[in-house]
Amino acid sequence: MSASASLQGFLIRGLPVIKEGDDIASLVQSLFELLEGDVLCLASTIVAKSEGRFRDLDSYRPGPRAVEIAGNIGKDPRFVQAVLDESADVLLEKPFLLVATRFGHIGVNAGIDQSNVGDERILLLPEDPSASAAKIRQRLNRDCAVIITDTCGRPFRSGVAGVAVGWAGIAALRDWRGEQDMHGKVLEITLEAIADEIAATANLLMGEAGAGTPAVVLRGLSYPRDGESVFMPIDKDVIRPHLKS
Ligand code: GDP
Ligand code: MN
Ligand code: MN
Repeated sequence: MSASASLQGFLIRGLPVIKEGDDIASLVQSLFELLEGDVLCLASTIVAKSEGRFRDLDSYRPGPRAVEIAGNIGKDPRFVQAVLDESADVLLEKPFLLVATRFGHIGVNAGIDQSNVGDERILLLPEDPSASAAKIRQRLNRDCAVIITDTCGRPFRSGVAGVAVGWAGIAALRDWRGEQDMHGKVLEITLEAIADEIAATANLLMGEAGAGTPAVVLRGLSYPRDGESVFMPIDKDVIRPHLKS
């Protein structure tokens, strides 16, 4: 499980504006030749678009809770209702809406995007991004891993970075437990969030604005295939209980 000595990153140019039903695997492979072991990183935005996860803000009828939260944080109540609809748990209502999505990712506004989408429309995250990753991966003509990324803020740190919201053909965490450090001390707790590290690297190449480059291939990594989720189990999360009022 040693890290490889060099890593290449390829930004795939030329993808169109993605519409519902588009076959992302085919589009990517028509523009780029994958090799076995490559990690294909896709912005969740385009996966969501291909899955028809657009919604009109006007299709939401905000309930009393959405209206109350929206009033407190100066948001459109329809948008807040959309966030609540995508949430399994609300961790913070103020000064922004931090929720746990049904598939386990915790993010501001349930990862719902209003940029790169168009007016009065929103784009939900894929319903189950790891399932999306697995479907796309099956359609690749090489044995590669797929990571679905989203740009997120991080607690305790300024600035956004890419994280993995879904993955397939790769473990989200590399388990270093049982390995020895340089002095022979056995590591007891280190799980490395490799899917997030890869997502952040890919996000660095994608950009956040209008470049139209939502796909990145990273080549040269060796990675485990099986492991635990990067979403922390609720019973192990020591921060989460402090957020709940
Ligand atoms: P997110 O991080 O998944 O929320 O996605 P962003 O909105 O930050 O977009 C990431 C990258 O994908 C940026 O370079 C966008 O310009 C690009 N992008 C977003 N939607 C599309 C699309 O439909 N087609 C193409 N070609 N690029 C897109
Ligand atoms: Mn996003
Ligand atoms: Mn982004």
